[in-house]
Amino acid sequence: MPKDALSALIHTCNFIATKGFCPATGGNFSLRNDADSMWVSASGRDKYQLKEEDFLACDLDAKLISGNGKPSAEAFLHGMIYKLSSETSCVLHTHSVPVTVLSMQKKEAQKIAFQGYEMQKTISGFQSHEETLKLFIFDNDQDIPRLASAVKELWHEVKAAYGLIVRGHGLYSWGNTVAEARRHMEGLEFLVECEFYSSRVVRG
Ligand SMILES: [Zn+2]
Repeated sequence: MPKDALSALIHTCNFIATKGFCPATGGNFSLRNDADSMWVSASGRDKYQLKEEDFLACDLDAKLISGNGKPSAEAFLHGMIYKLSSETSCVLHTHSVPVTVLSMQKKEAQKIAFQGYEMQKTISGFQSHEETLKLFIFDNDQDIPRLASAVKELWHEVKAAYGLIVRGHGLYSWGNTVAEARRHMEGLEFLVECEFYSSRVVRG
C-alpha cells in the first residue's frame, strides 16, 4: 500500500467530511495502486473516521482483491476513470448539496459552463477567467457500468474539467496526485456553489 499517498488521501477525506460533502456515509474515494488496480474506500464507512483498513484493493472493474469490506458499486466508475486516464492517481466522489440541487434544477441540462470566475484557474490547464470551463452532467443510473460507458463516450470533452456531475447525486473529481484531486474537488465545488446561488444553468 502506498502509505504516504494513502495518508494524504485519509487527511483529504477528513477535510471533505468536515466540509459536509459526504454526509451519512455517502461518497467514496480512491487511489491508484498500479496500472491495473486501485485502493477504494469500503462501502458504508463513516467518512469522518476513515483509516487505512477502510480501503480495499480492487481491480479496475471494482472486483475485490484484498481487504475487509465491500467495494461500493460506484467503485466501477472510479476504475473507468483510471482506465481512461493513465496519469490519474486519485478520484474523489462527493455528495454536496449545491451539486445535488443545481443538477436537478434543469433536468435536460447536459453541462454547466463556467465563465468569468477567477476560481476556474484552480483546474489544471485553465489560465484565465475568460476561458469557458464545461462541467458535464450525466443522468443518475443505478447501473454503474452503463453510467461509466456514458462517461467513456464523452471522455474527450469531459476530461478537461477533471470532474463530472451525476445528476441529483454528486461530483466526481480527480487528479494526478491527491493534492491535485483535492484542489480540483474544492475548485469545482466552489464554482458549482457560485452557480447554485445564482441558479444559472446553461443548456447543453
Ligand atoms: Zn455517490
